[in-house]
Amino acid sequence: MSNPFRQLPAVSDVLNEPSLQESLQRLGRDAVVAEIRLQLQAFRAGLRSQDAVPIPDARTLAEAVNQRLQTTHRPKLRAVINATGIVLHTNLGRAPLAEAAAQAAYEAGRGYLNLELDLVTGKRSSRQDAVREWLCKLTGAESATVVNNNAAATVLALRTFCYGKEVLISRGQLIEIGGSFRIPEILTASGAVLREVGATNITRLSDYERAVSPNTAAILLVHPSNYRIAGFTESVPLPELVRLGKERNLLVMDDIGSGALVDFAEFGFREEPLARRSIAQGADLVLFSGDKLLGGPQAGILAGRKDLVARLEKDPLMRAFRLDKMTLAALEATLRLYLNEATARSTIPVLAMLSLSQEELQTRAETLAQRLQAQAGIEVRCLEDVAYVGGGSLPDQEMPTWVVELTPTSMSDAELAVRLRVGNPAVLVRVQEGRLRLDLRTIMPRQIDDLVAAIAQAAK
Ligand SMILES: *Cc1c(COP(=O)(O)O)cnc(C)c1O
Repeated sequence: MSNPFRQLPAVSDVLNEPSLQESLQRLGRDAVVAEIRLQLQAFRAGLRSQDAVPIPDARTLAEAVNQRLQTTHRPKLRAVINATGIVLHTNLGRAPLAEAAAQAAYEAGRGYLNLELDLVTGKRSSRQDAVREWLCKLTGAESATVVNNNAAATVLALRTFCYGKEVLISRGQLIEIGGSFRIPEILTASGAVLREVGATNITRLSDYERAVSPNTAAILLVHPSNYRIAGFTESVPLPELVRLGKERNLLVMDDIGSGALVDFAEFGFREEPLARRSIAQGADLVLFSGDKLLGGPQAGILAGRKDLVARLEKDPLMRAFRLDKMTLAALEATLRLYLNEATARSTIPVLAMLSLSQEELQTRAETLAQRLQAQAGIEVRCLEDVAYVGGGSLPDQEMPTWVVELTPTSMSDAELAVRLRVGNPAVLVRVQEGRLRLDLRTIMPRQIDDLVAAIAQAAK
């Protein structure tokens, strides 16, 4: 018998295999050679530990290498079908964009655009001009400007107006949003000095009045987007703080968080602060996110007094926090959809999803269940369920919904959930009462075919 190690194909033989040529083109020689070596090593190890291992030929090895390369070189960021029912899912990128907004980002990305050029005069302009006018129309503010996210908006505002000075905040509003956005820490990072007023559940106007000193620059209101204090509570309404601000020459800044431009009370949800209402009630600046209830790209919007916005734009941090062209294009396109509220409600996915009726959700659930009925490896049933909005908005707001429950017949629920998650496309389900459920609210109609195929593949 000849030495079996000698019978293994050489790296160069595998490299010459026709089936590897596409991978070579796409990934380069180094990546392919490294994978061939790994495969050969694995076979050598197998040969040492066992007697009769079939020796692979170059073609078989090339196929194994291709398979591995496909897994190891998949994009890290992949489309996910969100079947959790959580409309604003932070781990899944919060708001999905409207088609018009995605299209605008795509066009901005693939070509040139008048980002900082006035096409009429031929002179340099500000990139903020793309959204300023729309934001003023939609919020009633004199002026507005945008940065990367609401966290940046808060830092920028505090730094510009309150550096080294005191900012009054109710103890009930010293919140944490997401992993690392804590109001006290943001204040410190911006160079402002936190002056806590009131108690966690009760803050009165007199608490603010007593706290004002010659070094006080502003009052900051923070909407407790992701938690609620219930029971014996009291906070000071914005108009009263505006009055105090005028009296004592303090800025009043209102961080409303979610950035609702339409009234969510009309959707049957608890009331969310509206940018337009804050401006109308006299806030000097209103701060909010672009990718929460507004339903646009990640952005932080500052709307309010013209002189204040001009000062914000002169701050050196503005340059560090500015939006890129694709985000700006997507934001402008989203804002333009709001010029007609009915258009916004039907074309902006967040609004469309939140306003889906129970009847529509039931119909969608039943249609999906019918398509899955014949599928081997799973049993399905439709039922009514309850979901949450998520993403730090409307935290305890329950939403009735319809789901399709999947019960695998030849593997555990946990195994099916993992297979769906690592599949192509990835599918994220909701696990409720220990059962796997597909919530129809966040599944887009255009994803149904892919979803059915992914489930068929995973349940096999
Ligand atoms: C979400 C939120 C923020 C942070 O906004 P990002 O856009 O995520 O940076 C700040 N303040 C409030 C009240 C929020 O709800």
